[in-house]
This record gives sequence, structure tokens and C-alpha cells, in this order.
Amino acid sequence: MSGNDYGNSPASDTVNSISVDEVVKSLRTQFEESLIQEPVYIGDMQVNLVTTSTGHGGQRYWFICPACKTRVAKLYVQVSLIACRHCHGLKYRSSRYKGMVEEQIFKKEQS
Ligand SMILES: [Zn+2]
Repeated sequence: MSGNDYGNSPASDTVNSISVDEVVKSLRTQFEESLIQEPVYIGDMQVNLVTTSTGHGGQRYWFICPACKTRVAKLYVQVSLIACRHCHGLKYRSSRYKGMVEEQIFKKEQS
């Protein structure tokens, strides 16, 4: 009941990824489809969802990256930072950018 079913205490050198499909699948067991537009909680982080039409009467779900507000299908959890691939610098490691992001989101946790 902790709301933290998506990776338990990742070590500092591990990155867990969460796909929006996993989250939506889990939400569908709890809510009507039409209600799955509320923010979801990943660990303690509130993440917004958006949908786009698939063109077949269905909907495609996306996360809004908490850091850069980009629509992404997958978020990455690294220590306490939840953000998209770009923000984590997984592709292009940039400690400067990552630091900026952490400062933005986790200011309140660093006390
Ligand atoms: Zn991002």
C-alpha cells in the first residue's frame, strides 16, 4: 500500500524504467477507462498523464515528464529522480543538466 510498486529502493548506480503501459494497465484494474487522466503517483512523485487518439477509436497514454514536461512513453527512476530518458542524460550524459533537473524537482527533499 505504499504506492511504490515500481522498483524498490534503487541503488545509486541503477536506473529503473517505468513504461506508461504498465501504469495504465495497473490503473485499469482500479478505475474506469475514462477516469485514467488523473495524475498518477510513482513513488512519491506525481506524474501527469495525457492521451492521444490512435485513430482507431482508442487512446494512447503518455507520461508528462515531471522535469521537462515532454510527452514520453517511459520514465526512468534513478535514486529519487523520476524523469524521462532525456532528463536523466541516459543517452548523452550531462551531469550539469541532470544536476539542474534534480535541483528543480527535489529542492524540497534535500533539507
Ligand atoms: Zn524529461
